[in-house]
Amino acid sequence: MGKNLTTRAEDYSKWYNELVIKADLAENSGVRGCMVIKPYGFAIWERMQAELDRMFKETGHQNAYFPLFIPKSYFSKEASHVDGFAKECAVVTHYRLKNDPDGNGIIVDPEAKLEEELIVRPTSETIIWDTYRKWIQSYRDLPLLINQWANVVRWELRTRLFLRTAEFLWQEGHTAHATKDEAIAEAEQMMNIYAEFVENFMAIPVIKGLKTESERFAGALETYCIEALMQDGKALQAGTSHFLGQNFAKAFDVKFANKEGKQDYVWATSWGVSTRLIGALIMTHSDDNGLVLPPNLAPDQVVIVPIYRDDEQFEATSNVANELMAELRSLGIRVKFDNRDTHKPGWKFNEYELKGVPVRIAIGPKDVENGTVEVARRDTLSKEMMNKSEAASAIKELLDEIQKNLFTKAIDFRKENTTEVSSYSEFKEVLESNGGFILAHWDGTPETEEQIKNETKATIRCIPIDADDASGSCMVTGKPSARKVIFAKAY
Ligand code: AMP
Repeated sequence: MGKNLTTRAEDYSKWYNELVIKADLAENSGVRGCMVIKPYGFAIWERMQAELDRMFKETGHQNAYFPLFIPKSYFSKEASHVDGFAKECAVVTHYRLKNDPDGNGIIVDPEAKLEEELIVRPTSETIIWDTYRKWIQSYRDLPLLINQWANVVRWELRTRLFLRTAEFLWQEGHTAHATKDEAIAEAEQMMNIYAEFVENFMAIPVIKGLKTESERFAGALETYCIEALMQDGKALQAGTSHFLGQNFAKAFDVKFANKEGKQDYVWATSWGVSTRLIGALIMTHSDDNGLVLPPNLAPDQVVIVPIYRDDEQFEATSNVANELMAELRSLGIRVKFDNRDTHKPGWKFNEYELKGVPVRIAIGPKDVENGTVEVARRDTLSKEMMNKSEAASAIKELLDEIQKNLFTKAIDFRKENTTEVSSYSEFKEVLESNGGFILAHWDGTPETEEQIKNETKATIRCIPIDADDASGSCMVTGKPSARKVIFAKAY
């Protein structure tokens, strides 16, 4: 037992929930399925937002904002889209409350019924494409590259903090293009940007791939995705990018005059990542002592804790701490000096371990005398003494090393937990005994995919893009298969 957390081995899902609460990331709210994101969790989300926003803007995208409410009639315009989301929509039907004349307190005023119901957006394609009709007339208006940072609501029945909530925060990109090829290139580009962000910034290795028809976004012709493997051997879809063809342009009558002056429908993409990424972060790196944050993402990369008995020692250690803090900041490192006298050093050590701060520095009276500081790293829990004069540059290197180490560890874990199988019995055996990613041949039909899902609960996570495509025969039906696909049980 570390930090009074249930261990991963004891109960993985209990460990996860306790960690979210005890690391002060989020908590359940009074609203079913909706969470309160606490300041520390939100600071991590803000780090993600800042980096992603930079990457989006560097590739020519601009931010905008569209309404939270979508008229029901918009939704019904794209048939497969409404089919996909109908079962999880929150619907606004009235606009006023009143005092109940029978004394039952406040009730919905039956006379204040909306003429047309409003859907709380589960995703914004419909309201955005209704707007794009007014924005796009000619090829000169294209491409239109828009992103929105927003909240959405999907009435999920089984929810988990960060991983699956009824309301979640995300970004949704919605782009419009003159040609099919351009739109496909955009969808691929955004999948690549997500992969780059998740790997370099969050230190989580991902597999890039295509979803099968049955796992595709409602209304998309192709869904690109990044899939990550969690420590319990289950997969997590970490981001999606959709090629929408001309489906939404046709549904909302968005046409443009091409260079030859002919009218044509516009080509579309949409793409999103959500607060689910925080769940991926926790389940990839954290341990039985709490959260482990990759330095690139940590709100505080370094925390300094003074150790003292009296005012004189407090002043001496604080002087050293302030000097070191200034040096670290001048190297661009995010550092906090925790000089609160309301908490003991031991309590602080515990707290920062639980919160996953990558590097902790302790400075006591002996260190002041000797010109040293004690440096502890969160990923390996190891400690070393450093000369104060060399500490700042050494810590800068150490942060890089921690970032790399976390990624390497996660890659190794994925390698150890990826199995290629050639028969259905072997598939079931690996799934039961170990889980993880399983590579197997599949005949490409939704029927076989459905059968495997019903019999084993494993789904096709993706048809990997970077894998070699040696052909073979389906593990279930023996029919020809162009390449192996990745199966796993998933969140
Ligand atoms: P989609 O629009 O379905 O392609 O989803 C876009 C992104 O939101 C994906 O990265 C999903 O992993 C994520 N996502 C979907 N549903 C939820 C949910 N209930 N809670 C948190 N994230 C979600």
